[in-house]
Amino acid sequence: MISKPTTVRTVADLRRQIAAWRKAGETVGLVPTMGALHEGHLSLVALANSNADRVVASIFVNPIQFGPREDFSRYPRDEQGDLAKLAKAGVDLVFAPETAEMYPQDFSTQVKVSDLTEDLCGAARPNHFDGVATVVTKLLLQCAPDFAVFGEKDYQQLLVIKRLVRDLNIPVDIVGAPIVREKDGLALSSRNAYLSPSERKIAPVLYQTILEVAGDLAKGRGCDDAVVAARFKLDAAGFRVNYVAVRDPDTLKPLSGPVTRARVLTAAFLGKTRLIDNVAVPPPSTTSR
Ligand code: AMP
Repeated sequence: MISKPTTVRTVADLRRQIAAWRKAGETVGLVPTMGALHEGHLSLVALANSNADRVVASIFVNPIQFGPREDFSRYPRDEQGDLAKLAKAGVDLVFAPETAEMYPQDFSTQVKVSDLTEDLCGAARPNHFDGVATVVTKLLLQCAPDFAVFGEKDYQQLLVIKRLVRDLNIPVDIVGAPIVREKDGLALSSRNAYLSPSERKIAPVLYQTILEVAGDLAKGRGCDDAVVAARFKLDAAGFRVNYVAVRDPDTLKPLSGPVTRARVLTAAFLGKTRLIDNVAVPPPSTTSR
C-alpha cells in the first residue's frame, strides 16, 4: 500500500518542509488545485514530477473566486480520495489550509489583473479573476516553488497568472499543461459530476463544436462566420451559450477575418452546469485518456 503524502495546514509548516528541501539543494514544483481530483489534475502532477525533485500539491476551495450565486458550498470535496490519488501520483507534500489560514479576519488585500480579465469568463463572473489572482499570488509566495503548473483547460486563467507573475516579478516559472479529455472529447472537470446522464451525453458537443471551428479557421474560414455557426450548433444541442470567441492566443484580443494562429474559447451552460473549453488554431492532435 502506498502511504498518504504528508499533509500540512499552515504556511509555517509548509515553509519548514520546503526550507529543508532547499537546504538539500532540491528543486520544487507546485500544483495548485481545488481538490475533487481527476486525471487532468494528475497530469499536472506528472509534469511537475518530471521537472522537479519535489512536488507540492495544494488543495483549497478558494471562497473569494466564487460569486454569491455560484457553487462554492456544493463544490465537490473529497480530501481522503484526493490524498490517495496524490500518493499514487508521487506528490511529496500536500498543502491543504483552512480558510482562516489563507484569509484571516482582517484580510484586506487584493491582486487585480486588468486588461486580460475584462471579458470572456471575467464578464460572466465578476471578481472571479481577482479571487484567482489573489489566491495564486499567496500560494506562490507561501511555497516559493521553482515553477508552478496550471492547465490550459482554464486558458484565460493561465494567461492571467502568467501576467501577474511577470508584473509583480514573482521569481517562478508558470508552466501550462495540455487539456486532458474523456474519450468522447469532453474536457475533464470536477464540475462534470454535476451533469445528469442526459446532459453528460450532450456535453461532448462543446468540444466537437470548437474543434470544428478551429478546423474551419485553419482552412481559411472567417472568424465571425465560424462563431455564428458554432453558436447555432450549440443552441440546437441544448446549450445556453455564454460565449464562443476567437482570440489572440497571447493577449486574448478579439480577431476577425481569416487567421493563422488563434485560440477558440467557449463557455456554455448545460442545465445549471457551466462548462468551459478551448482549443488552439491550428488544432492539435487530441489528448484523451
Ligand atoms: P481546479 O481544481 O479546477 O482549480 O484546477 C486545478 C488545475 O487543474 C488548474 O490549473 C486547471 O486548469 C487544471 N485542470 C483542470 N482540469 C483539467 C484538464 N481536464 N486538463 C488539464 N488540466 C486541468
